[in-house]
Amino acid sequence: MQETGTQETSPHQTSPQETSPHQTGPHETSGTETDVIVLGLGPGGEYVAETLAEAGLHVTGVEPRLVGGECPYFGCVPSKMMIRAANVIAETRRVPLLAGTSSVIPDWSKVALRIREEATDYWDDKVAVDRFTGKGGHFVRGAGRITGPGQVRVGDVTYTARRGIVISTGTDPAIPPVDGLAGTPYWTNRDIVQVEQVPESLIIMGGGAIGAELAQVFARFGTKVTIVEALPRLLPQEEPEAGELIERVFTAEGIKVALNAPAARVTKHGTQFTVHVGQGALMAERLLVATGRRVELAALGVASIGLDEKARFIRVDDRMKAADGVWAVGDVTGQGQFTHMAMYQGDIAVRDILGHGGACADYSAVPRVTFTDPEVGSVGLSEAQARAAGFSIRVGCTQVPYSARGWIHKAGNDGFIKVILDTERGVLIGATSAGPTGGEVLSALQVAVRAQVPVTTLRNMPYAYPTFYRAIEEALKALDK
Ligand SMILES: Cc1cc2nc3c(=O)[nH]c(=O)nc-3n(C[C@H](O)[C@H](O)[C@H](O)COP(=O)(O)OP(=O)(O)OC[C@H]3O[C@@H](n4cnc5c(N)ncnc54)[C@H](O)[C@@H]3O)c2cc1C
Repeated sequence: MQETGTQETSPHQTSPQETSPHQTGPHETSGTETDVIVLGLGPGGEYVAETLAEAGLHVTGVEPRLVGGECPYFGCVPSKMMIRAANVIAETRRVPLLAGTSSVIPDWSKVALRIREEATDYWDDKVAVDRFTGKGGHFVRGAGRITGPGQVRVGDVTYTARRGIVISTGTDPAIPPVDGLAGTPYWTNRDIVQVEQVPESLIIMGGGAIGAELAQVFARFGTKVTIVEALPRLLPQEEPEAGELIERVFTAEGIKVALNAPAARVTKHGTQFTVHVGQGALMAERLLVATGRRVELAALGVASIGLDEKARFIRVDDRMKAADGVWAVGDVTGQGQFTHMAMYQGDIAVRDILGHGGACADYSAVPRVTFTDPEVGSVGLSEAQARAAGFSIRVGCTQVPYSARGWIHKAGNDGFIKVILDTERGVLIGATSAGPTGGEVLSALQVAVRAQVPVTTLRNMPYAYPTFYRAIEEALKALDK
């Protein structure tokens, strides 16, 4: 449970209080008047609630499931533990090309145990609840519904906020209306992080970041994996080169990739799922649905405070304000569904609530990383987005295997760096860094985009030899070609 709330360590590494003096339930009436009600304690809400409580406000945090939210229990952390294990397997399999002989017998039980013991405490949030209450927060277990300005109902208790409400209720897996799907025992991310044995075969519906990451994990642990993607390429949010790269790598690893293949119907007979796509049918023991996320605003009662309950997300201004006395942070705002965005927005909301001012939200350099091998990191605008926005651009691209470090690295060196230059201002407005440690290489590009570093400056500095990030210099040179 890391990188969430104000805590950047696992729950085992904290020193939680033994008791939760401020914990109340929906059926208790104590402490129903409060300064701020925080609805949903994922990374965004947990950060806001803890920071405001530490600042001395009376904060009531409401959470029906697990304090910490999607990231530590069902998302980032368990999936990255899976990826770390799968990458170790892949590296071991590369030994024959570079260093001798190797053999590896994958054992999922180690991954399953690590997720249970180190990441999720067996999906128990006691440590996180204690951390919040230890900072003076008042915790309510239950789903909240806004019933009017400053009012939230949980069960049969109404809580009243003097200063306001923060909505940080995140997203749920979006299940597409595919004929037959609803009646089957398909998995979502919340199921797959809990599996104790890898399936013999797996169809993944959705070739975005979550689908792609998990496809590679399970394939490396021996599952026969097929990805079914309705659009013409994998990672549709990213540059086309990224999707093509990942498709090539996946195919080489034995993952079947079906593109332009919207699922038309799903059936389940015995131990077999059948997914009908186009004229064909794909079969597997398990089906994972990873087709995006959805926000359910009507159930939150947002209409009672004048917000559009049919909207896809809650619209906020650059201080996270959605209405008078209402702030929203995280996935529910639709500004990039990442833990770092939830916490970034959380910080802005906290400053606004406390009247501290400071910088407003700036989304010009939002980083995103798909943790496949190779990793795909990107920031700012893609080439297509930049053209659509009317920028006059030049594009530079270089292949990682042709760089000194990529060539030395050899096995597993696929990747590229692509930069988008705004020719009028002479600054980068977007970049993609795919390759080994592509997400780390991205950091230099993120600074360049965010700080609008003149491309002349980027070109006039030495890049350490032979690093992966040195390939940025080649991508910049390619702007002139
Ligand atoms: C498989 C997977 C992998 C991911 N990997 C990464 C990654 O590597 N990096 C990254 O940055 N992001 C990643 N993400 C995304 C990341 O998990 C989310 O962006 C992040 O959790 C969003 O935080 P949040 O606070 O907005 O919402 P959430 O984490 O969704 O938390 C919202 C909370 O609100 C609660 N809630 C809902 N309704 C109510 C209600 N009515 N009343 C009270 N509480 C309510 C929910 O129970 C939940 O706990 C991943 C997601 C998935 C699914």
